[in-house]
Amino acid sequence: MTDLPRPVRIASTKYDGSLHYEFGATLLSHEGSMLTFRVPAGTVLKGYRGDVDVETAFTALFWTDRHYNIYHNVSPAGRRGIMSYANIATPARLDGDVLRWIDLDLDVFTDADGTVTLDDVDEFEDHRARFAYPDELVAAVFAARDELLELAKTGGFPFDREAHVGT
Ligand SMILES: [Mg+2]
Repeated sequence: MTDLPRPVRIASTKYDGSLHYEFGATLLSHEGSMLTFRVPAGTVLKGYRGDVDVETAFTALFWTDRHYNIYHNVSPAGRRGIMSYANIATPARLDGDVLRWIDLDLDVFTDADGTVTLDDVDEFEDHRARFAYPDELVAAVFAARDELLELAKTGGFPFDREAHVGT
């Protein structure tokens, strides 16, 4: 790629097409199936619960062939002190200057103590029934969940946050 860095909008929906989050980011690199973005503090996230200001800059990693993405905050963020946050999702698709993906509810995050949390299990079960997630999608979600829980505990790629923050 010769035209990097460049601005890209990161736009996610839920499985029914409703807004999840949308925000501007800088695409730093696109190597193989992995895209790396920087999102500065002060960025406005347009979200399903209204607009939110990003208080802590983060690096976001997406893949076109993995059922998750991950955000590494430069410092603990929010009341839960989140350091690294993985969204289980469809693989991302870069469509011109928009990166599109579908959020599949479940999240795995780490905090400053190194505690690993699986979040939004209730939301996943609710949406799995309401939106009738296909069996193959559910299997992909559970495989991503198990992989991420292990990687978060061991600090394996892409939970090796020091390799990604500040790049
Ligand atoms: Mg979630």
